[in-house]
Amino acid sequence: MNIVYLTTEAVPFAKTGGLADVCGTLPKVVAAQGHRCAVIMPAFSSIERSLQPIETTDISFAVPMSDQKLIGCRLLKSHLPKDPNDPEDSAEVPVYFIDQPQYFRRPSLYGDANGDYHDNAERFIFYCRAAIIAMTRLGYPVDLVHCNDWQSALVPALLRAASDNVAKTQPIATMLSIHNMAYQGNFGFDAFPWTGLSWDHFRPESFEYYNQLNFLKTGVVTSDVVSTVSPTYALEIQTPEYGCGLDSILQGIPQPVAGIINGIDTNIWNPETDPHLKRNYSVTDWADAKIDNKLALQAEVGLPQDPDVPLLGLIGRLADQKGWDLILPVLKQHLTESRPTQWVVLGSGDPKIETQLRELTEQHPEQLAAYIGFSDALAHRIEASSDMFIMPSHYEPCGLNQLYSLRYGTPCVVTKTGGLADTIVDATPENVAANLATGFHLNDSSAGALDHAINRALQLRYHSPEKWKNLVEFGMSQDWTWRKSADQYIQLYARTISLNRRRRSGS
Ligand code: ADP
Repeated sequence: MNIVYLTTEAVPFAKTGGLADVCGTLPKVVAAQGHRCAVIMPAFSSIERSLQPIETTDISFAVPMSDQKLIGCRLLKSHLPKDPNDPEDSAEVPVYFIDQPQYFRRPSLYGDANGDYHDNAERFIFYCRAAIIAMTRLGYPVDLVHCNDWQSALVPALLRAASDNVAKTQPIATMLSIHNMAYQGNFGFDAFPWTGLSWDHFRPESFEYYNQLNFLKTGVVTSDVVSTVSPTYALEIQTPEYGCGLDSILQGIPQPVAGIINGIDTNIWNPETDPHLKRNYSVTDWADAKIDNKLALQAEVGLPQDPDVPLLGLIGRLADQKGWDLILPVLKQHLTESRPTQWVVLGSGDPKIETQLRELTEQHPEQLAAYIGFSDALAHRIEASSDMFIMPSHYEPCGLNQLYSLRYGTPCVVTKTGGLADTIVDATPENVAANLATGFHLNDSSAGALDHAINRALQLRYHSPEKWKNLVEFGMSQDWTWRKSADQYIQLYARTISLNRRRRSGS
């Protein structure tokens, strides 16, 4: 199969969240199974910082964004980097960048301190239209385009709508993966003309959503298949609580929403070889190595060095989604009551949460180290050095940090939602006895439940070391690599292509 991935993020070229990890790895694993894969993404300023060679191609074209405005662009080209030490990581996956400096060469991807960029509708409609043209210039027929999140979600509708587009001569099956339902790309109807289509196309069965242009909804109702990144999230988003207004639309589409859990890139996330760690380790020698790493991290972040004190780690966006309304009260309790714990936090986002974390760190430097910013290296060290990882998200489409934590022997305290419910097995007495447990679930989404779950984890860690050891080692020995998930995607691609053929032939 010839698959094209449309995404705005792919490691190492652009990243704000888990989408980048998925799109930087999945195409390589699928290509390694003998399929031809390519990625098409915008040429954001961040691509220059990727350290990957980027070449100019001789492909350039213009997109008529309106009668008066013809917007030109050219394609740049690079590849998803391969790990020279991994013989399985040998597939060549070209990455094409749509270089349109006015739209994409900006300090960040989607917005600045004042909020989203005002012209995001125009920028990403341009990206969708340019990506369709770019697909015709690859020199081979594309069987399936895999769109990711709202920024590329207009592509299935554009392929279906335009009478003179590639879809007539070269049928392309379409799949949309939703990595986070909360981000839909909802704009005023006045953005619609940028699509280049006549107003006849602005209808509820395609672009229109209550007189607005909603990118994600358009993709949901016009792609052949919709998927998301865990089986539980696939069910949750079809309920009013998690569907962000699109639940009944998702329930009404002909194909069931597929849920495929993300894998992790074990060339990057492997405690045996991780170059960021003081001491590498495996499932056979983790205990002493984790203490060495903990002492090194404590020194690095300015916490008192103590091998015995439990170190609780947190990494992620400082956004409501991640449960900061639960974390902050519990953290404050630990700090004000001088409970025997240390906390290390890495994240950025909501300025209000950033300020609170900064203030708490100033007031309790012996117990809390909060780093406001983005640091890959520190993220690796926190995963390796903490005794437990705290992730009480209100919703979590898949979540990657709990998978890294499993591999790094750092049991997680999680809410029972989305991918967290699918990947972490709660340490109930029964699961512990059967040696199936890998972490700790909150009983509900409250600060009290988080406190209780952390206490359960501390109890097991300090009062049942043998059971803790089993829990750590069972988690470390699980396989969350991309291989299994890629196989599920490949099956879904094949099914989507045949559905598309059947739809076209009217059978
Ligand atoms: P989401 O995509 O909702 O942000 P995920 O858990 O799926 O959450 O993926 C987040 C990814 O981004 C992980 O790889 C995580 O380690 C990384 N990450 C998030 N914030 C930071 C940060 N401040 N520094 C380093 N890595 C971060």
